[in-house]
Amino acid sequence: MAERMLKFINLPQQTPEKRPAETRRGDFQEIYDDFQPEAAAQQASRCSQCGIPFCQVHCPLSNNIPDWLKLTAEGRLEEAYELSAATNTFPEICGRICPQDRLCEGNCVIEKGFDSVTIGAVERYITDTAFENNWVKPIAPLSERIETVGIVGSGPAGLAAAERLRAQGYQVTVYDRHDRVGGLLIYGIPGFKLEKDIVLRRWKWLEEGGVKFVLNADIGGALPFSELREKHDAVLIATGVYKAREIGGPGSGLPGIVKALDFLITSNRKSLGDAVPDYDSGLLNAAGKDVVVIGGGDTAMDCVRTAIRQNAKSVTCLYRRDKQNMPGSLREVKNAEEEGVNFAWLSAPEMFLGDDKVTGVRAMRMHLGLPDASGRQSVETIEGSSFTIKADVVIKALGFDPEELPIAFNEPALKLTGWGTLKVNPRSFETSLPGVFAAGDIVRGASLVVWAIRDGRDAAAAIHRQFQAARQAQAAE
Ligand code: FAD
Ligand code: SF4
Ligand code: SF4
Repeated sequence: MAERMLKFINLPQQTPEKRPAETRRGDFQEIYDDFQPEAAAQQASRCSQCGIPFCQVHCPLSNNIPDWLKLTAEGRLEEAYELSAATNTFPEICGRICPQDRLCEGNCVIEKGFDSVTIGAVERYITDTAFENNWVKPIAPLSERIETVGIVGSGPAGLAAAERLRAQGYQVTVYDRHDRVGGLLIYGIPGFKLEKDIVLRRWKWLEEGGVKFVLNADIGGALPFSELREKHDAVLIATGVYKAREIGGPGSGLPGIVKALDFLITSNRKSLGDAVPDYDSGLLNAAGKDVVVIGGGDTAMDCVRTAIRQNAKSVTCLYRRDKQNMPGSLREVKNAEEEGVNFAWLSAPEMFLGDDKVTGVRAMRMHLGLPDASGRQSVETIEGSSFTIKADVVIKALGFDPEELPIAFNEPALKLTGWGTLKVNPRSFETSLPGVFAAGDIVRGASLVVWAIRDGRDAAAAIHRQFQAARQAQAAE
């Protein structure tokens, strides 16, 4: 039934049902149920169809949110899907894992007096429905082009670029060192936020559209980067950032102190049904253990919630600032608290205890001082405030830096920024090497899936422009 719009005054916000913490602690399934069609239409109808939609302004993809909300409210879901897919390669993924509270929904104007429109949940619902109804068709270029593009990295940036270039008719090959497509979507982000079938479905969709994948291909390792440059007319680097930030202090090298991504990749592989010796041996498995996770970002939240699901004895998150100043999404903190995670706010590790393996963390209380030049409050230790937490496993989740690509790719002329990310021309996305482009976290630094999609799409458009200019120049000769 078609719903009238502007219903926010009388109709309260309703998100899809969240499974009770007691149930969801025991598995890696997503925690939110699907919207029922009637509820999706009703929630979409709460939108007031703003003349200047701040939701859209604050969506990195400039999604046409008011229009697809209206189409959903009117029951015109296939059109809503087409509109949504026009600006977003993976709407069902963003609908699940974007930090909407900081982006579209956080800027919905009705948020000022009422709860915002549930934009993310509707976006997810539209594309899930499109898949169920077979409305999602493989990419079908109008004509084939002879130019080939090699993409290094099958994360959201590489895949979004692959989709756009293939739709223009280019011959696209994506290389990845992993055995599955998806980058952090498949091996970083846990199933309780994004079920793996959703990512595998997109892999199949891209293959059906003619994108080729070469997996287990470590570029710069077994397969030299120079080979890709010889083979392809253009190369896009979308390798993400993976160098884990280290932690110092006495005992920081003890066995039992592990990297966040090693822990998450192992857990995701287990969920995908792989044989995982490090999980079975207990090395990267929290079952029955006291676990301490250090960090306050999305990665730390994923680690604490994974440890809970692996049946850890206790899980404590140690973060040096307070809840209001943590980089992770507050929605995820709330979920973690509901699931039984303890948070030690304003606490930082001082040393790690143990002889031949870690047995505990000695931490100090902190307080927030005056803001520095960036406006962020400094963190100062409180003398004499030490306390000890028992730990069989300590997970370091302090963020990621880029690997040194000029060395890894044996391309000394590949220029970096001061942060070690790849330097690109912001308009052309070209690096200091002609014909070599870059997008996603490797350019931006650790960021969000939605920004990686945006960069991948923009880089594809820039590569297309460069091919077209070359073709026109050739024709004019
Ligand atoms: P990636 O997704 O990192 O993909 C890069 C790919 O390149 C990988 O597949 C890698 O194997 C491959 N690669 C790297 N080097 C080579 C090489 N030499 N040869 C071949 N292949 C190579 N963002 C959100 O928006 N919401 C979230 O909830 C969220 N949760 C996160 C949780 C975790 C644990 C982490 C680590 C990040 C999270 N993020 C989240 C951030 C988000 O995942 C990244 O910003 C995004 O995936 C970056 O996309 P990308 O394509 O640039 O790189
Ligand atoms: Fe919101 Fe992300 Fe969807 Fe944009 S892509 S509308 S920010 S959920
Ligand atoms: Fe609708 Fe909110 Fe966007 Fe306005 S800001 S168009 S009410 S979703």
